[in-house]
Amino acid sequence: WLQSQVPEMHYRWYVDTGPVQDKVWAEQAGIGWIGKHSNVISRQYGSWILLGELITTLELPGDRPHTNHCGTCTRCLAACPTGAIVEPYVVDANRCIAYHTIESRAPKLPPAIAANLQGWVAGCDICQEVCPWNQRFAQPTDVADFAPRSPLLKTSLEELATLSDEAWDELTRGSALRRIKPEQWRRNAQAVLSSSRYD
Ligand code: SF4
Ligand code: SF4
Repeated sequence: WLQSQVPEMHYRWYVDTGPVQDKVWAEQAGIGWIGKHSNVISRQYGSWILLGELITTLELPGDRPHTNHCGTCTRCLAACPTGAIVEPYVVDANRCIAYHTIESRAPKLPPAIAANLQGWVAGCDICQEVCPWNQRFAQPTDVADFAPRSPLLKTSLEELATLSDEAWDELTRGSALRRIKPEQWRRNAQAVLSSSRYD
């Protein structure tokens, strides 16, 4: 629509599809604020939201930045099992379960991560689960495309620990979890299985 109004306009759009500073812009645009766990929190929905952005050459008026509503709360810092939130608003990816289970391609998880997975094989939401804004305001989505994929839900930890490349291809088709490659699923599930905390 914008392009039909201003044909000479250039634009790019992203929904978690490129390395852009969308959290900062969301705060500047008044959508929410960056919480001490470093995720954007909306007063209406909490932090389990997706950010989408349109970057354009159009000159547009600015919005009012959102104010911060973490207050004196430190629940996310206290709850992180690996101490990854090293100070308010600063997450050390090297200590973060979400980074290691999704992004890191290392053949083995570092011992300090493997011992503290608490059952997580894909990401980690602990700092968001304990956040009072999510506990009060998070809502299940009514968008069918965002619902969990049923074949993945039925997969046991033991099956994930020995997941074949073919089964991975079948199970993750059309899912954001496809970002985690089969060798990462096997590594993560094996680490959870051998973690004493999970037992
Ligand atoms: S995602 Fe998990 S490991 Fe990472 S900062 Fe939050 S609680 Fe800590
Ligand atoms: S748990 Fe508390 S400190 Fe952490 S992001 Fe939520 S409101 Fe802010």
